Amino acid sequence: MSKEFAVIGLGRFGGSICRELSNEGMDVLAIDKNEDRVNEFKNIASHAVIADSTDEETLKELGIKNIEHVIVAIGDNIQASILTTVILTDLHIKKITVKANNDYHEKILNRIGANQVVHPERDMGKRIAHSIISNNILDYLELSDEYSIVEVKAGKKMAGKSLIDLDIRANYGCNVVAIKQGSDINVSPSAEDLLDEQDVLIVIGGDRDLARFEKHLV
Ligand code: ATP
Ligand code: ATP
Ligand code: CA
Repeated sequence: MSKEFAVIGLGRFGGSICRELSNEGMDVLAIDKNEDRVNEFKNIASHAVIADSTDEETLKELGIKNIEHVIVAIGDNIQASILTTVILTDLHIKKITVKANNDYHEKILNRIGANQVVHPERDMGKRIAHSIISNNILDYLELSDEYSIVEVKAGKKMAGKSLIDLDIRANYGCNVVAIKQGSDINVSPSAEDLLDEQDVLIVIGGDRDLARFEKHLV
C-alpha cells in the first residue's frame, strides 16, 4: 500500500513536493485555499481540494487525522502556517513537516511540535554559495550548526596524492568518509591509494575545519 501524504499550500515549494510524491506513486491529498492552484493539481494528486487549513473543522472533515504525514508549505502567511501546525499537532498527526520562512518562524514551529522544519531558501542558498566558491565543490549538506558534509572533486590539488600524503585528518580535522569513482563508491577508502583528479571525496567535519580544507585543497 502506498503511503498517505497531505500537502497544504501548493506554491512552488509545496507544489513541487506534491508532484514528486505523486510521481513516486504516493497517495497525496493536495490542499490549497486558492481554487486555481487546486485545479492545477486535480490531475496530479490523488485528491485536490479547496480548503482553508486554519479551519479545524474543515481539516477534520477532510479526514486529515488518518493521514500519516502532512507537509505544510504555506509561504508568506506565517500566521496561517503556525495556526495550521497547531491544529495538526492537536489532532495528533504522526508526522508534520513545515516550511519555515525565517529563523524566528523556525523556532516557533519547533516549539509547537512540528516534527521537521525545513528552510529551503536558506539551505539552498548555502549549498549554492559553497558550490560557487569553487567549481570543485559539488555539494554541501549541513548536519548541525557546527558540522557539515561536503562533496568535493579531488581536482588538480589532490590528484596523484594519497590521504596519507594529504594528511587530511591531522591537518584539517576532517574525515574522508567515502570516495566516489564514477558510479562506484568506496565507503572505507584506503589511506594509501592515489587519488585521481576526477575522484569525488565525501568529507565530514566541523565548519571551520571544512572551510580551511576547502581553502587549501579544493
Ligand atoms: P514558493 O514556494 O512559490 O515561494 P511559497 O512557499 O512562498 O511559494 P506561496 O506562493 O505563498 O508559497 O504559496 C503558498 C500557498 O499556500 C498558496 O497557494 C496559498 O494559497 C496557500 N495558502 C496560504 N494560506 C493558506 C491556508 N490558510 N489554507 C490553505 N492554503 C493556504
Ligand atoms: P590515525 O591515528 O589518524 O588513524 P594513522 O597513522 O594510524 O593515524 P593512517 O591510516 O596511516 O593513520 O593515515 C595517516 C594519515 O592519513 C592520518 O593521520 C590522516 O591525516 C590521513 N588519513 C587517512 N585516512 C583518512 C581519512 N579517511 N580521512 C582523512 N584523512 C585520512
Ligand atoms: Ca515564497
